[in-house]
Amino acid sequence: MIRLLDLAAEYRELKSEIDAAVARVFESSQFILGPEAAAFEEEFAAFCDVQYAVGVNSGTSALHLALLAAGIGPGDEVLTVPFTFFAGVAAIEYAGATPVYVDIDPETFNLDVRKIASAITERTRAIVVVHLYGQPADMDPILEIARRHKLIVIEDAAQAHGAEYKGRRVGSIGDLGCFSFYPTKNLGAAGEGGLVTTNNSEYARTLQLLRNWGEDRRYHPVLKGYNYRMPALQAAILRAKLPCLERWIEVRRGLAAQYDRLLERAAVARPAVLPDVRHVYCLYSVRAEGRDGLQRGLESAGIQTAVHYPLPIHLMPAYADARYQAGDFPAAEACARTVLSLPMHPYLTAEQVKQVAAEIFKLVDKKDQAAVPSVR
Ligand SMILES: *Cc1c(COP(=O)(O)O)cnc(C)c1O
Repeated sequence: MIRLLDLAAEYRELKSEIDAAVARVFESSQFILGPEAAAFEEEFAAFCDVQYAVGVNSGTSALHLALLAAGIGPGDEVLTVPFTFFAGVAAIEYAGATPVYVDIDPETFNLDVRKIASAITERTRAIVVVHLYGQPADMDPILEIARRHKLIVIEDAAQAHGAEYKGRRVGSIGDLGCFSFYPTKNLGAAGEGGLVTTNNSEYARTLQLLRNWGEDRRYHPVLKGYNYRMPALQAAILRAKLPCLERWIEVRRGLAAQYDRLLERAAVARPAVLPDVRHVYCLYSVRAEGRDGLQRGLESAGIQTAVHYPLPIHLMPAYADARYQAGDFPAAEACARTVLSLPMHPYLTAEQVKQVAAEIFKLVDKKDQAAVPSVR
């Protein structure tokens, strides 16, 4: 069985560090925030090259608080993509604002910058930019449009810890950056976790208040806040893993380069990577016509895959909105129909990548016989 990811292997490698971190928290008996969370915030801020990092209890909470800290609320429109994990859209709605979708570029899976301008109205206040699968979105044109229209830029970096755009770390490029430490992300907790990055001291102060009931001291709330605090156990475990993250990213990049080489002549579309970015391959997703058959074939061969994501958000029953219908975002819809995530994790071997590629060649025709999806 070749797994999509292998969290047990990670524990086997780091068992003594993780066990020691857990013991340290139990001995301190300080289970919420405290010195472990403060130390992790400092270490993760350095990793992202930002001034402030505020730990919270999930990536979704990070997105919600980033929007609130930026002053987003009812009556505001927030631009985002319809092809991603839908937490960003949920967070925009938690804040009382209205999500407005901009289609993606089907080659990179990220926001199509050419389509932003036509989505902007006089109510647009912010843009939630997703760095999907670990590849930074094309930030320069996004920042340029944001400057022109006075939009706040929030990076959803939940899949992109350590990714870089023109030498700058994600989370340090926009006004606020949001990270998730859900176990399947490139840096995963043993449970839920999240964090917001910013270089704005006022945002940082508001985030610290909002995550902890708005209290500036015990039982004296100065803002209506939330119970979104980071548990100390998660912070301690994340501290044990953070020193490995750079190495893990390099392993992922090496495996992705190997997939790219081996699949060059296969009838699947490989992920396009912008020049000047460091893609961190939280997921390695290809596109294939007949995706469902390919997935079934790989499963029969003992190869685990997944679809991220089978429905664009505007077509999800819970998020359907009268303003949108099928056909509105053709690239997002085509990707939902064709994407397939192949096994990708730091403990995958070159030999396993070879096996996956060989199996794909058995299941799909060569490039010259079958067209790769084209939705441009
Ligand atoms: C995982 C994820 C989130 C949500 O993070 P949680 O920690 O699960 O709340 C948000 N956006 C994207 C792109 C994600 O992949």
